Amino acid sequence: MRCPHCGGAEDRVIESRENASGTTIRRRRECLACSYRFTSYERIEEKPLMVVKRDGRREPFDLKKLERGIQKSLEKRPVSQSRVEEMLHEIEDESAIIGKANREIPGKQLGEMVLAKLFALDRVAYVRFASVYRMFENVEAFVKEIEKLSRNLGEEGSESHKPAD
Ligand SMILES: [Zn+2]
Repeated sequence: MRCPHCGGAEDRVIESRENASGTTIRRRRECLACSYRFTSYERIEEKPLMVVKRDGRREPFDLKKLERGIQKSLEKRPVSQSRVEEMLHEIEDESAIIGKANREIPGKQLGEMVLAKLFALDRVAYVRFASVYRMFENVEAFVKEIEKLSRNLGEEGSESHKPAD
């Protein structure tokens, strides 16, 4: 690692630490020439995380693809980009933790994770994502979710009793 301070090529590692999901190693380094301390990040290359689909087929975990779907469902919604990025980081980390043992995550579990996070973030986006991307196991389960959702919204105050003008 080249020292960002003096450009020296030699350093010693003071401390190495993995992030929570075990996908990145952070190393504290000290330049041997000027003693400047800096941090390096290394992505751990391992077998890619695979998503197991309902029919048993596997496809690589693709955060970009998920992001596109999530962004689409959030179109014109009042949600900041930083909240979306935070959510994507959470999804990546939690998926890595789930798949730590055998590098696999059931598609259903991934879908439910995304939906739970979207539900907390923005209900319109949640419904869009759920309906467009068919993350639910079947139509029945989806309808049940929607009913639950409208019940919850109803309890918060129905708009159907607005006086007519
Ligand atoms: Zn240096």
